[in-house]
Amino acid sequence: MYLHEFQAKGLLRSYGIPVPDGGVASTASDALRVAKELQGDKWVIKAQVHAGGRGKAGGVKIVDKYSSVYDTSTEMLGMKIITKQTGEEGKTVRRILVEEATDIRHEIYLSFMVDRDSEQHVMIASAEGGTEIEELAETNPEAIISEKLSAVVPMGNYQGRKIAKMLGLEGKLINRFAAVAAKLHQVFIEQDCMLLEINPLVIDGKQNVICLDAKVSVDDNALFRHSKVEEMKDYGEMDPQEVRASIYDLSYVSMDGNIGCMVNGAGLAMATMDIIKFYGGEPANFLDVGGGADENKVREAFKIILTDPQVKVILVNIFGGIVRCDLIAKGVLKAAEEVPGDRHLVVRLDGTNVEEGKALINEHAKSSGLSVHAADTMADAAELAVKLANQAEDKEQG
Ligand code: ADP
Ligand code: MG
Repeated sequence: MYLHEFQAKGLLRSYGIPVPDGGVASTASDALRVAKELQGDKWVIKAQVHAGGRGKAGGVKIVDKYSSVYDTSTEMLGMKIITKQTGEEGKTVRRILVEEATDIRHEIYLSFMVDRDSEQHVMIASAEGGTEIEELAETNPEAIISEKLSAVVPMGNYQGRKIAKMLGLEGKLINRFAAVAAKLHQVFIEQDCMLLEINPLVIDGKQNVICLDAKVSVDDNALFRHSKVEEMKDYGEMDPQEVRASIYDLSYVSMDGNIGCMVNGAGLAMATMDIIKFYGGEPANFLDVGGGADENKVREAFKIILTDPQVKVILVNIFGGIVRCDLIAKGVLKAAEEVPGDRHLVVRLDGTNVEEGKALINEHAKSSGLSVHAADTMADAAELAVKLANQAEDKEQG
């Protein structure tokens, strides 16, 4: 789960990490009120969308008059930010962060990530802050420093000092940098982060080390122990289908093909997508309905799959281990009542009471006259689904 910059900065602030003073606003008059409460005579207005590269896309503006705070906020709210990370459709700005402008002398790149190969954390730093790290990796890879860190104990002062010196910092900046880096690593560990990126971390005119930007992603699997972070979830930033799926505890990822998949278990869902590909088809999604595939969940899963207009065939592949196949078949058929008649349904069940389950599907196919098919094996199911999808495409193209 990604946090907005203002949320991430709030989190850092609660650990005593220096970030500029500021506040979030959703209207221009709110923004003006925030600016008036802040010290100084220069403010930065920043679009709060889940994407980096906002600066270049017009999502970060420095202003020095109250009237400009108001005008710039009016312009920015509702505008679409388009960056490499948002795709062509861009992201609409619903909130802005108004903060004090910092007197920047030097911009540094600093981030923490999980390094799966070494089962450790890794800190990445560069004296060339402000530039995106992907760009830097291409144009000037020697400028990137990395340091392996423990995944359980916050980094030692010696590690921070070493990196500070490699970054060319001198005097009291060495210890200041090390202190901020250690606290950031503490946040990374305690909040179960996947990514914590400060770009830029800046040195100001008074030799303070300040986090000017903050990109934080927290491991979804750990959210149960971070209720405060979970409350920050912004559904407006997520794919609407994926939001719906998460409400019903379904894990759904949309894709480009025309065969919708409804499967129980992530492993089986992956295998289903593989076998569709093997027979020359393209899956429209990954969808795991989880262990207890009850009628309600199955119905929601159908609805979510069918919101994708590309879907011609739905392939249901369910292993009845805990739930019996005849019950699953009943649930699937009930839920399938809402599936439009021009779509095909291929059902492969296995497990307890599989014969009873298949018999129910076959009976239904006969009595309803709909294109519902019970397949014997996964291979049969995939082959049939691909065949039906191809036929449907041919028919559409006349
Ligand atoms: P993004 O990475 O999405 O482009 P940043 O928050 O990094 O957004 O802002 C882009 C640039 O704007 C920064 O590199 C910095 O130069 C400038 N900037 C951002 N916040 C402030 C601030 N509070 N004071 C002064 N300059 C800022
Ligand atoms: Mg940035």
